[in-house]
Amino acid sequence: MPRDILILGGGPAGLSTALHLAHLAPELKPRILVLEKAHYPRHKLCAGALVSDAEVILQGLGLDVCEVPHVDAAEAHLGFAGKGLIVALTGTHALRMIRRDEFDAWLANKTLAAGIDIRQGVTVLNVQPQPDRVTVLTDAGAFEAAVVVGADGSNGVTRRCVLPSSKTHTARVLEVLVPSLRAGPGATTTSRVVVEDPAVLRASERGERSNLRAEEGIPRPQITPGHDAHADNIAYLDFFPVPFRIAGYTWDFPTQVRGQPMRCWGIYDANLFGNHPRPRLTDLLADEMRDQGLALDEAHIQGHPIRWFSPSSSYAVARVILVGDAAGADGIFGEGISIALGYGRIAAEAVRDAMARGDYSFRDYGRRILTSPLGQALTIRSSITHLLYRLRWAWLQKLFWRVFKPVVLGVSLVFVLNWARRMK
Ligand SMILES: Cc1cc2nc3c(=O)[nH]c(=O)nc-3n(C[C@H](O)[C@H](O)[C@H](O)COP(=O)(O)OP(=O)(O)OC[C@H]3O[C@@H](n4cnc5c(N)ncnc54)[C@H](O)[C@@H]3O)c2cc1C
Repeated sequence: MPRDILILGGGPAGLSTALHLAHLAPELKPRILVLEKAHYPRHKLCAGALVSDAEVILQGLGLDVCEVPHVDAAEAHLGFAGKGLIVALTGTHALRMIRRDEFDAWLANKTLAAGIDIRQGVTVLNVQPQPDRVTVLTDAGAFEAAVVVGADGSNGVTRRCVLPSSKTHTARVLEVLVPSLRAGPGATTTSRVVVEDPAVLRASERGERSNLRAEEGIPRPQITPGHDAHADNIAYLDFFPVPFRIAGYTWDFPTQVRGQPMRCWGIYDANLFGNHPRPRLTDLLADEMRDQGLALDEAHIQGHPIRWFSPSSSYAVARVILVGDAAGADGIFGEGISIALGYGRIAAEAVRDAMARGDYSFRDYGRRILTSPLGQALTIRSSITHLLYRLRWAWLQKLFWRVFKPVVLGVSLVFVLNWARRMK
């Protein structure tokens, strides 16, 4: 059957677009096809921390994420060198951790149950918009559609084809899973080994090494020992790497893999200081883990970039719109699941209106994003990313996380989080 609406990529952004379309315009369901290169359940490198906005968007679709295996973090501790802000919400969790293979497979099943077709194992190779249609070339042949939604993530082919020269901010992210039982000092850990994109990791590490070689004698970071031992049901985010020109933080989250309690460790760098010599991300992560009695085995680290949102970016051309990481995730934390789900709502409304009017220019898609509560939160987050990570002095970071914490908490709750309840 010829399809009018092709959704390229079946992660949270693509599946949320499909599910919202099923709600907003059920008559369009038979005309929608999702193309996904993998088969569910498929690996996706991600710490899987859901903020409450993700749950609100899912509830709006009549979905209960409790159906997916999860671990709740009662508190989130954000700070500098072990001290700072404690986020604890009355009567509910601060963060909910899912595994992406399970979460995305669940969402795909909900999409199929809603009557929307997903073709798995189809890789999109090229997207060619024309005045009267879009041609999508794949390894399973060519598809034609009136409208294409690019939901193929940070490395996606859609943006590269339709907006090849658009400016991008790309964060570097490394992650490792370790068993939750704390090993003794000096012990090595066993981790699940799934390398998603070793080339990305190798390339970023190569870049850092060559920078370091260019400026010999960069001191390795010294981490003050003696942090409090991490508790099982708390998520930790530590911004100690900022003085080293790493625009980000290390994390240590509780999680589970096939029912086994695990910890997910990682380091995020919004990559604002790419032209400066910086320590290796792995060294910083290893130091932080060592502080908790864990030895980081570099062979087990996985890496993937995250494209983060800029309000001056482009999100559409005629007949093609972008959602999720393809449009841009959060720059402060690299948080993108709730955001991908939120983009789905905006995209579904834009596609429904385009189909109803027969106007496929999507001239107003950028405005729809920027004026939405999600777009407003992303715009503020983009400004905070540039500000927070330029406060490169340890004393300023301490001031920010330890002294100004009521202000930081207030701004976060009003401007950074809780946007989903305001989505109409
Ligand atoms: C290490 C790491 C940790 C993270 N931790 C968190 C976290 O704790 N919380 C959080 O909210 N966010 C986190 N993120 C960000 C989050 O993973 C992304 O923002 C989110 O996955 C974006 O969803 P998406 O649907 O836009 O893209 P994706 O989830 O990347 O989905 C894209 C889909 O498109 C498919 N695809 C790609 N190319 C093609 C093609 N050519 N043809 C067909 N299909 C294709 C892929 O297989 C995939 O299914 C993390 C990211 C990383 C890298």
